[in-house]
Amino acid sequence: MVSTHPLGIQASGSQYLPQKLNNTTLSPNQELLPLSARVNRHDSLEIGGCDVTTLVEQFGSPLYILDEETLRTACRQYHDTFKQYYKDESQVLYASKAWNCLAICAIVASEGLGIDVVSGGELYTALNAGVTPDKIYLHGNNKSRDELVLAIESGCTIVADNWYELKILVELATNSSPVRIMLRLTPGIECHTHEYIRTGHLDSKFGFDPNDLDQVFGFVSKQPSLNCVGLHAHIGSQIFERQPHRDLAAVMVQWLRDAAKYNLELTELNVGGGLGIKYTESDDPPSIEEWSKAICEVVQQACAAENLPLPKLLCEPGRSLIATACVTAYSIGSAKVIPDLRTYVTIDGGMSDNPRPITYQSVYRSVVANKMSAALTETVTLAGKHCESGDILIKNAQLPKTEPGDILVVMGTGAYNYSMASNYNRLPRPAAVLVANGEANLILLRENYQDIIRQDCLPERLK
Ligand SMILES: *Cc1c(COP(=O)(O)O)cnc(C)c1O
Repeated sequence: MVSTHPLGIQASGSQYLPQKLNNTTLSPNQELLPLSARVNRHDSLEIGGCDVTTLVEQFGSPLYILDEETLRTACRQYHDTFKQYYKDESQVLYASKAWNCLAICAIVASEGLGIDVVSGGELYTALNAGVTPDKIYLHGNNKSRDELVLAIESGCTIVADNWYELKILVELATNSSPVRIMLRLTPGIECHTHEYIRTGHLDSKFGFDPNDLDQVFGFVSKQPSLNCVGLHAHIGSQIFERQPHRDLAAVMVQWLRDAAKYNLELTELNVGGGLGIKYTESDDPPSIEEWSKAICEVVQQACAAENLPLPKLLCEPGRSLIATACVTAYSIGSAKVIPDLRTYVTIDGGMSDNPRPITYQSVYRSVVANKMSAALTETVTLAGKHCESGDILIKNAQLPKTEPGDILVVMGTGAYNYSMASNYNRLPRPAAVLVANGEANLILLRENYQDIIRQDCLPERLK
């Protein structure tokens, strides 16, 4: 049976193309395919003016394809909305754990965004991409001494997470050049999202317990070597509801008011990230503009109600900035038909390049890039090539009839894919290309077999 589109159009891969009506600006997080996606006269998917099938011929598969237009549009929407609706200073940070590499850090920084990093490795990458330290914020619930030293020496802001870290910071810092810190607190706000990525409830490994607020403020206010500039909280990821962030902003403004009792002059408020994206037709996240506008408004209202001056407002989206900008292209290989049960179609990657389905049961949509207008007549299970029965990329995917060599494109893979990729089964990690105006540039080289054994040591006595 041929499945049909809700609008009565016969379903094909083309149904996922961005639909731009009356000059409206699309919010990347509300689309499935990147904004520059088109179908060309060969019935092939084109992104950034590049034919996906040709990209795979040129760069191999699997291949991450990052659309510069979509990434820059998302950056500008966040940046411009905060500038428009917030009456004081603001700074949007990219939560780079979603996908941290030199090229992405450089693009995001060129749009005026800062970067938040959660490890020495991410910090090192951001610095090497030329991001200025005054726009870099280091997070983490167990930062090592080395990571803290790198952060202090580079001059970025450290988001202190716990007592142990505060004590190390006091040891490392000197009164002559105080360390710029913020305090992370657990706001006790629950989000209806996947449990593993929920961090805002009180039972969280992240941040200070708000019940300890008085002690923390009291301690920090007596440390001349710590320059505490503000407060931070992050309540979770892939959030579609509007209320949690409204509640969060209100709670955080209360904390700001409490800090004043300790003569702590806190001038920055970071409300975290978490805006969700559309992975399937049924996902309906608010747009980047709606989300940002709501944050600006609630902070302004809460400050007005408390008679507090407006802090510098920061937020740190990850997924909603990068996810939709990238697709992963695979080559289709073998198929296994189990009569009356299921058809498995295999691709040349899987849980090593996209661990989200096996880790979080995440759901993705896909198209066959070289058959964009073909009717979706088949229901198949797309399996990876790893030695793990759970290595299933998409269950019950609606696809046209496929054959080996067809190019499968999985959408929305910019966030938490490359950054979580592994070498499981010793598969080399795929390449990534940046596409814009018909040009494709490598931003991450494909690993080869030498890379696979690069860290191996064979002790002399085993030779
Ligand atoms: C992961 C994370 C983010 C980004 O979350 P998204 O859901 O990707 O927007 C922001 N802040 C902190 C502290 C995080 O850990």
